[in-house]
Amino acid sequence: MRTTLSFILSAFVFVTVNAYAEQVASVSSVIVPLHQTSKIAALTDEKKSETCFELLDHVKGPKFKNENLKRVCAQVQWLPSCVSVKGTPIVHFEKTGHDKRKKRILVFSLIHGDETGAGSLVRYWLERLDEIDPRNDWRIVPVLNPDGFEAKTRTNANNVDLNRNFPTRDWNDLANIYWKKHSSSSPRRFPGTVAGGEPEVKCAISQIDDFKPDFIVSIHTPLAVLDFDGPKVKPPSFAYLPWRSLGNYPGSLGRFMWVERSTPVLTAELRSTLPTNFETFDRLQDILGELAKYKLNHMKEAASFLNR
Ligand SMILES: [Zn+2]
Repeated sequence: MRTTLSFILSAFVFVTVNAYAEQVASVSSVIVPLHQTSKIAALTDEKKSETCFELLDHVKGPKFKNENLKRVCAQVQWLPSCVSVKGTPIVHFEKTGHDKRKKRILVFSLIHGDETGAGSLVRYWLERLDEIDPRNDWRIVPVLNPDGFEAKTRTNANNVDLNRNFPTRDWNDLANIYWKKHSSSSPRRFPGTVAGGEPEVKCAISQIDDFKPDFIVSIHTPLAVLDFDGPKVKPPSFAYLPWRSLGNYPGSLGRFMWVERSTPVLTAELRSTLPTNFETFDRLQDILGELAKYKLNHMKEAASFLNR
């Protein structure tokens, strides 16, 4: 099926260099080289849904039903720059909030392909969002690294740790040094050869550029903490995972978006075993919505003042 999908997709390949270059330039002050992969110019709704369903239908959860996932996947959308190294489209789901003072929350999951618990949480949130009337606007990219997810690897198909490949200003000077010094040149944490050179990172940047989030959530496992790169606030309490800062790295999403662009990033590091009751994840989604909506007002102004 995947071979057929790739074949059909490759039949629709066109280069949209100018439009893409404009997108990247507007979010990043550094020049991001264009990936050699051409962009897929068109993707049918059926193919978007199929890709979503194929990736998420084997994710584990206590009450998951195929019919609910099908309903979610029938609504997914796709940006033309969102294609993995191996040619799989990277789709997203969006739900508009009802509150007048709503915020825009962008969720990335499975940036690391082997963190399968992140897949369980994201599927649960997708199905929940489909049923509720949320306060905030939510956009969810459930599988940012589909090649790694299929191969059960942390890295993408180019063996790059995508969370070390964002084009932070210090990337050229520090990414490799950090990798050697702080990660003992672990192949699981290889930052790549070019800042922002990986197609999945380009997709993440075009999602940020397109959605213009107030708050970003990135779902990982297994460190069992809520790691917040953002302004100093008293976060809502959450018994299942303590709030604890892990710091950020050259090429990480937290450094790229919070340190350099003043958009807060919450890295939700789940436990290695999933909770027996997934209602824990209702609470997690709700407190993140609460954090974005009530606690981060004026945060951009405050952050740009601090960074001056
Ligand atoms: Zn991770």
